[in-house]
Amino acid sequence: MSVDRTRLHIALQRSGRLSDLSRDLLREAGLRIESGKNSLTARAANFPADLMFVRDDDIPTFVSDGVCEFGIVGQNVLEEFALGQPEPTFEVVAELGFGKCSLRIAAPEQLHYEGTQALVGQRIATSYPRLLQRFLDEQGIQAEVVQMKGAVELAPRLEIATYVCDLVSTGATLEANGLRVVEKVLDSQAVLIRSLKAVDEGRANIAEQLLSRIEGVLATKESKYIMLNASSEALKRITDLLPGAEAPTIVPLHGRPGHFAVHAVCQESVFWETLQKLKAAGASAILVVPIEKMML
Ligand code: ATP
Ligand code: ZN
Repeated sequence: MSVDRTRLHIALQRSGRLSDLSRDLLREAGLRIESGKNSLTARAANFPADLMFVRDDDIPTFVSDGVCEFGIVGQNVLEEFALGQPEPTFEVVAELGFGKCSLRIAAPEQLHYEGTQALVGQRIATSYPRLLQRFLDEQGIQAEVVQMKGAVELAPRLEIATYVCDLVSTGATLEANGLRVVEKVLDSQAVLIRSLKAVDEGRANIAEQLLSRIEGVLATKESKYIMLNASSEALKRITDLLPGAEAPTIVPLHGRPGHFAVHAVCQESVFWETLQKLKAAGASAILVVPIEKMML
């Protein structure tokens, strides 16, 4: 297939932990994606963008080479790739809040561990040799990094290494293999990256549209629209309590002199505790509603 230069190209994981959530994000940004799970590419029916479904490990390369202008990938894969590049080839344009995990060093349960000095001279198996080496260098530890493509958690049992350095979210996989976490190397989540290769004006404009939509989607996830009533003497206390709300709208209530309706977009989560505080400060008829679309 030849590459259409009048359209944007976005690299997504084909099948794995990030695939569904990456597609969901683009759908929420209004892209109609018409393809089954098994295709290698898909065309957005209502937006000038083509999607390419690849292994997550290939996404940084596709974006760096400019084959795709954008990609969605975990920071773990991205930073491991970046450490092998002489100069920056992409920029991170948004943290997406999904695919959260961390890269951690784990030890066999029965092993006595009292800090990073225990790692000196030991063998540590990992699929992230550069990230691990950076951590060891930062800690001033000399250890042997053993690179494995997968099944890293089996290394101690196979006597390939004493320690492992692997991705963890709940820790259940490590536990099932008789390992426990001893050090954290990196916190990770999925990010949207953009190629640093120059594009023509047409694609630059489409890229800006896509970015503004994605920023809107991310902002709405956090934001809520809050409405409440308050008397004039309680207004100041109440507006001070609204989380992440700039310039709320305040309008007089018809037939209730000295009482106002306060409407605001809160750009942070609104918890029950906040509502209780608002009530205690004199607010009544408090409503919190989700925001469907937002363009900043
Ligand atoms: P591919 O076939 O695309 O190479 P993969 O097997 O390398 O897939 P997945 O297991 O699908 O990758 O994980 C993709 C990404 O999901 C990881 O690189 C990481 O950023 C994120 N992730 C979130 N939680 C976890 C977890 N518990 N274990 C592994 N990865 C996780
Ligand atoms: Zn992979």
